[in-house]
Amino acid sequence: MTELFQLLQSSPLLFTGTCAILGLMVGSFLNVVIHRLPRMLELGWQQQCAELRGEPGTPHGTYNLVVPRSACPHCNHPISASENIPVISYLLLRGKCKSCGAAISPRYPVIEAISALLSGYAAWRFGFGAATAGALLLIWALLALTAIDFDTQLLPDDITLPLLWTGLAFNLSHTYTDLHSAVLGAVCGYLSLWGVYWLFKLTTGKEGMGYGDFKLLAALGAWLGWQMLPLIILLSSLVGAVVGITLIIAVKRGRNIPIPFGPYLAGGGLIALFWGQALTQGYLQLFSAP
Ligand SMILES: [Zn+2]
Repeated sequence: MTELFQLLQSSPLLFTGTCAILGLMVGSFLNVVIHRLPRMLELGWQQQCAELRGEPGTPHGTYNLVVPRSACPHCNHPISASENIPVISYLLLRGKCKSCGAAISPRYPVIEAISALLSGYAAWRFGFGAATAGALLLIWALLALTAIDFDTQLLPDDITLPLLWTGLAFNLSHTYTDLHSAVLGAVCGYLSLWGVYWLFKLTTGKEGMGYGDFKLLAALGAWLGWQMLPLIILLSSLVGAVVGITLIIAVKRGRNIPIPFGPYLAGGGLIALFWGQALTQGYLQLFSAP
């Protein structure tokens, strides 16, 4: 084991490749989380409501991240190990179920490929050590949150809260920022959007975003420090505004249809993780130049 670590430490290229392959495999698991976690939460809520009403609740079979086994949603053909190799199986099957020929969503290989690319990049960027280990966790959590928010307008506490505490834990030893900045980042991240939410709600009577958004920004603040919050908010608002206006104009999508903010926060967080220092330094230089 120590020999393996020494080998990975001595060869950045090998380490990058290993992390990319790890990212590919985790990406496959993220697809399961993205698909099943919202359904698991919904079943749990239904169960709680039934209990409150004093009803026995609708019985359903075990449903979690492991059970039941993955199957084709059209014909229930169980997915075998050889049909479950990230990206490769999708290409070999030409995007169709082996049994019934129904189309498989290209989103599965896309998420696997993005996970592999970002994981490999993080390894290359941060090198062998705690910074890469943390970056991988952050990337995988943000990917899952992005897709779940896109599908369901939910950012589950089951991901955002552990992400926040993990970020603080990594910064105990100053992995991305000092602990002081990390704690302030979590506090300010939560309170800033919470403030915007209430200001918006009291003035317009509408809800502009959800509590999940505050928790996600708090988590990003815990990972990257309060100094990165303005950049993350700026980046996510810019991209969010461009995409939102495009949707309103191009698809004639109503102004009042909620647009999930989580994906943009996650995107802003990733940019801040990789290029935040350079971007904020460049920004400060603009203003300090004589
Ligand atoms: Zn099928």
